[in-house]
Amino acid sequence: MRTFTCNLLPSRVLFGSGMRNHLADELQTLGLQRVLVLSTPGRHTLARSIASNLGVRSAGIYAQAAMHAPVAITEAALRSVAALRIDGLVAVGGGSAIGLGKAIAARTSLPQLVLPTTYAGSEMTPIFGETKDGVKATRADPKVQPRVVVYDVDLTLTLSAKTSAASGMNAIAHAVEALYARDHNPVTSLLASEGIRVMARALPGITGEQGEGAARFDALYGAWLCGICLGSVGMALHHKLCHALGGAFDLPHAETHAIVLPHVLAYNWPCIPEAIDELQAILGDDPALALFELAGRAGVPRALNLLGMPEAGIDLVATRTLENPYWNPRPLEYAGLRSLLQRAWAGEPPASASRE
Ligand code: NAD
Repeated sequence: MRTFTCNLLPSRVLFGSGMRNHLADELQTLGLQRVLVLSTPGRHTLARSIASNLGVRSAGIYAQAAMHAPVAITEAALRSVAALRIDGLVAVGGGSAIGLGKAIAARTSLPQLVLPTTYAGSEMTPIFGETKDGVKATRADPKVQPRVVVYDVDLTLTLSAKTSAASGMNAIAHAVEALYARDHNPVTSLLASEGIRVMARALPGITGEQGEGAARFDALYGAWLCGICLGSVGMALHHKLCHALGGAFDLPHAETHAIVLPHVLAYNWPCIPEAIDELQAILGDDPALALFELAGRAGVPRALNLLGMPEAGIDLVATRTLENPYWNPRPLEYAGLRSLLQRAWAGEPPASASRE
């Protein structure tokens, strides 16, 4: 075993069914009297129910969170924060609601409690992205790390099988990149392997039909493990590409991750032998193809063009990615990046040449 440093982040976690009913106790423990409940418009009814359960501790609801955290929405939410004189934030929803909470916390230092309803993993990280003028910038700040995370599996039951699969692959992407992260360590690798194993096993069992309860529990548990990976080690090409694509073309986050992941794995393959050994033990001989097929079986789109990305965007994103150099196990070069993006755009299987 080599020498290492391990940063695991300090959120308190409640996990199970019906755990949202403990939220008021958690607010009391933190001494919070007036919180603002945040959600996307799609989760407004859920936000109302959470606010109603909190009674007088809820000062109001702001249900305009949007994907990729547009700065204009954060500024509008900050006006509500000031008017309502709140002392805490409760975000209920996926990464968009949680991202709005983080953007507000970054500017106000308000404590956050979050109830994740997707598998995106933002609740486990001190990272937040914001989009302005079509460019998404990502920062890390310990003060945006949520204080309490309530994983209530009941809140995920409304996720369709297809959205669950896309979101689950978003989670798997965190763990895959954690396996070869420059600063990975034995503990993060353990979490990553288990997160991928649990999530990949759970997703085919989420069908939207009766009797899938165990799969929903497992997927949420897997999402937690993968989220810890995202918050604990540095990410590489996969996450950078997805941020560039999402910011430039306003693409749906989870689906973008699901499409790009097999292609980046194929690109990095020759330079990550230990991660490939581990992934083969979990996903079979060809993990890149296995991930591509996992998405296909669940009906997740496999082509960026189906999400609305123009073909001309391939060059833009390849160029932007090279303009902003960062560590990746395989050095970045234009032709390889372009070819990866072209395949992802067209919905072709991941390249196999690099893996032979
Ligand atoms: P999302 O939060 O935008 O949710 C997608 C859609 O699904 C929304 O319309 C939402 O209302 C709906 N939805 C959410 N939960 C649902 C449920 N249980 N049932 C039915 N519908 C539901 O999507 P996301 O993929 O969770 O998050 C994406 C955003 O999170 C992006 O902006 C991304 O950058 C950010 N993110 C940040 C981090 C981080 O660490 N900073 C990590 C992951 C994602």
